[in-house]
Amino acid sequence: MDRKQRTLKYSYTFKGKGLHSGKSVTMVVSPAPANTGIRFYRCDLPGSHPMEAVADYVIYTQRCTTLEHDNVRIFTLEHLMSSLVGLGIDNAMVTIDTFEVPILDGSAKPYVEAFANDPLCEETAPVTYIDITEPIVYNDPSGSIIKVTPSDHFSVDLTVDFNSKVLGVQKFHWEEGMDYAKELAPCRTFVFFHELEILYKNNLIRGGDLDNALVIVENPVSDEEISHIAGLFNVEKIRRNDNGYLDNVSLHYDNECVRHKMLDLLGDFSLVGSRINAHIEAFKSGHKVNTTVAGMIRNKYINNK
Ligand SMILES: [Zn+2]
Repeated sequence: MDRKQRTLKYSYTFKGKGLHSGKSVTMVVSPAPANTGIRFYRCDLPGSHPMEAVADYVIYTQRCTTLEHDNVRIFTLEHLMSSLVGLGIDNAMVTIDTFEVPILDGSAKPYVEAFANDPLCEETAPVTYIDITEPIVYNDPSGSIIKVTPSDHFSVDLTVDFNSKVLGVQKFHWEEGMDYAKELAPCRTFVFFHELEILYKNNLIRGGDLDNALVIVENPVSDEEISHIAGLFNVEKIRRNDNGYLDNVSLHYDNECVRHKMLDLLGDFSLVGSRINAHIEAFKSGHKVNTTVAGMIRNKYINNK
């Protein structure tokens, strides 16, 4: 699909907390010239340069995607990146006053609600596409697999299998041209109940307040255990629904988890820094394998060209 690059017409401000740091953050997403890509400027680090959001700079992928280059570090940028690629916004400058993008409601909906009404500006340069010419297969020791094969357009088949009775095996197919705002943007991140306390104690979800994640309760837990977790997160009363999820939030889709994983995958693959014509088959993928494969594509088709 040949088209010109696009950017926003207006700037949008988002205020919230970082999921992992719990830090308050103000972030402004603004228009940018053609061929900028998506860049992050840390206004709390005077003299620093805007960092291009590309897979070369991935330094950390535990429960979020984090980039660092020239001392500019940005945590948890995947949902914002996903919304931009999903809405066909090629260039933007993101100005942020700390090191983590706000989690907002755990999905990409707040971004899409802001950007979807923007008239978008067409720029002078065409969008660049990478044509994948030969298959790439990445097998991670964790059991995750990603296979990228040549295609005349972008599509993804994703399978989620956590060996969970609540989730089961969930599959989702994504095809360029599908309605990102409807199909993926509202789908929130998720966590297993038994991981909550460990994550909390390891300072990994200090901004999580149980309003921004689906919580899966795999095995029956006692009322005391649930009250204990509610106390940690300052929530008054929660209980396990019959469907196996905590009742802190209600599901937008029965398969909201695989849809969220697709949202993440699109954000992580946008770190190729160019659109790609390829079919992706992903099995149990997460940020580590997504960004590893995005980096392999960059190395083969961009960095070593
Ligand atoms: Zn996510």
